Amino acid sequence: MISVQICNEPVSVLRRALAKKEISSVELTKLFLSRIEGIGAPLNAFITVDSERALAEARAADGRIAKGEAGALTGIPLAHKDLFCTEGVLTSCGSKMLSNFVSPYDAHVVSLLKKAGAVSLGKTNMDEFAMGSSNETSHYGPVHNPWKPGYVPGGSSGGSAAAVAARLVPIATGTDTGGSVRQPASFCGITGIKPTYGLVSRYGMVAYASSLDQGGAFGASAADCAALLSAMTGFDPRDSTSLDRPTEDYAAAIDAPVPHASRPLAGLTVGIPDEFFSEGLGDEVRAAVESALAQYRALGAATRQISLPNARLAIPAYYVIAMAEASSNLSRFDGVRYGHRTAEYADLSDLYCKSRSEGFGAEVQRRILVGTFVLSHGYYDAYYLQAQKLRRLIADDFKRAFTECDLIAGPTSPVTAWPFGAMGDDPVKMYLADIYTTPVNLAGLPGISHPCGFDSAGLPVGLQLIGNYFSEARLLAAAHHFQQSTDWHLRRPANPA
Ligand code: GLN
Repeated sequence: MISVQICNEPVSVLRRALAKKEISSVELTKLFLSRIEGIGAPLNAFITVDSERALAEARAADGRIAKGEAGALTGIPLAHKDLFCTEGVLTSCGSKMLSNFVSPYDAHVVSLLKKAGAVSLGKTNMDEFAMGSSNETSHYGPVHNPWKPGYVPGGSSGGSAAAVAARLVPIATGTDTGGSVRQPASFCGITGIKPTYGLVSRYGMVAYASSLDQGGAFGASAADCAALLSAMTGFDPRDSTSLDRPTEDYAAAIDAPVPHASRPLAGLTVGIPDEFFSEGLGDEVRAAVESALAQYRALGAATRQISLPNARLAIPAYYVIAMAEASSNLSRFDGVRYGHRTAEYADLSDLYCKSRSEGFGAEVQRRILVGTFVLSHGYYDAYYLQAQKLRRLIADDFKRAFTECDLIAGPTSPVTAWPFGAMGDDPVKMYLADIYTTPVNLAGLPGISHPCGFDSAGLPVGLQLIGNYFSEARLLAAAHHFQQSTDWHLRRPANPA
C-alpha cells in the first residue's frame, strides 16, 4: 500500500521499500513531486523542478533495481542547490546574471550522485551567489521557513534546507562557505554536515570563495546525511584542492557496534568553548543547547570547558577573505560568453559595466566592491594580509583544542530564524550572526548541525558539533547516537506553507 506517509520516512526505509518492490522509484518520485507542487509551492524552495527528467531518472532507477544492480541511492529522490552545474538544466546561482545559463556539464557531485542512482527532482533556491544568511538575496525571491511563513529559512542554502524540512524531498545538497549548510539546517530543524575542506570536489560548483567553499549534505537525520555524504565524496583531479584519500562509508560507520549500548558515547570528550556561550547568544538558544549537552553526558560523553580565544575575530577575517575571493571569482561574469548581457552598450567597457550592474543584486555588488578594495594596492597589507594571519591564529586555536577534546560543541547560530527584512539595511548585523560557523570554514574543519529544541515562537534551535580533519564519521556517529535517544529530528512542521 503506497501512502503519502512514506514521504516522512528516512532514506534507509525508502531504500528497503524500493528493494522489496513495495514502491517503485517512479511512484516515490511522483509523491514528492506532488508535494513540491502542492504544499511546497508557497515556500518558494525550488528555482527549477524538472518532472520529466526526474521521472526518466526514476524509470532508469527502477530498471536497475529490477536487474539487481541498485547503487547506494538508486531510486531515492534528491535536490541540488542551484549552484551545482547540472547538464541541460538551468543553473542560476540565485542570480539574474545566470538566469539564462543552462549548464553544458555536470558538477562532480552531480555526476557521483547520478552514478549512485539518485533521482534529481530539481534545483533549490538560494542566496545570490551563496552570499547571505537568510535567502533574502535571491533573484527568485525569498524562501519561507516551513516552521513559520514570513520567517527566513537561513542561508545561503535555504531552499535545500526548507525543502528537506517540509519533506518536499528526503535529502538535498548544499554548500557551506561560512555556514550555509549548518545555519539553514539549524533554522529549519534538520541535520546538515559540512565536511573537511577538500573532501567534496568543487568542480562544477559555482565559486564564491574558493578557499572556503565546500559541498555538504542535508537530511532529516545524521543517518540520512551519512547516506548522502558517502555518495558525494571522492577524489577528483579536476579540483586542485580535492584530496586523494580512500572514500568512507559513513552510513556503515554510524551503525558500528558500541561496547556499552546505553552509553554509546563513553570515552568521547566534548569541548565546550567559553567563547560560544558569551555575549550575543540568545537565552532560549542557550537553554536548548545546554540541555542537549546534558543529553550528550547522559549518553556517556565527558564535557570540558575549552577556549578558542581568536574565534571572536572570525567575522572580520572571514568577510575580508570571502569578499576578496568573490571579487576575483565573479570577474568572469562579464556578459561576453554566457550569462546576462545588457541590451545596449556603447563599447566593451560599457558592456561590462551595464551587464554587471544589471545582472548582480545589491549584496553581490557590495561584496565585489569591498573585495576589490581589500585587494587593492595600499590596502592589501592592512586588510587581506591581516585577515590571512587571523585565519592562521583561528586554525591554531582549534589545533590546540583538539589536543584536549575529540569534538567541540556549541550553538550553530546565536539566534533562531528571524522575520523577513528584520536585518533591515544593516548587512553587518546579518554577518555577525555567522559567528559560530565561520571559524570552522577558516580552519577547513568539518562541522554538523542537528536539531536540539525550539524557542518559544516554535522555531528550531540547532547544536553544532565540530570535529578534527576527516572526523566526519565520528561527527555523524555522535549526532546519530543523540538522535537515537531524542526525537527533535523527527518533529515536522505542522503546516509547512
Ligand atoms: N553567510 C555567509 C556569507 O554570507 C556564509 C555563506 C555561505 O556559507 N555560502 O558569506
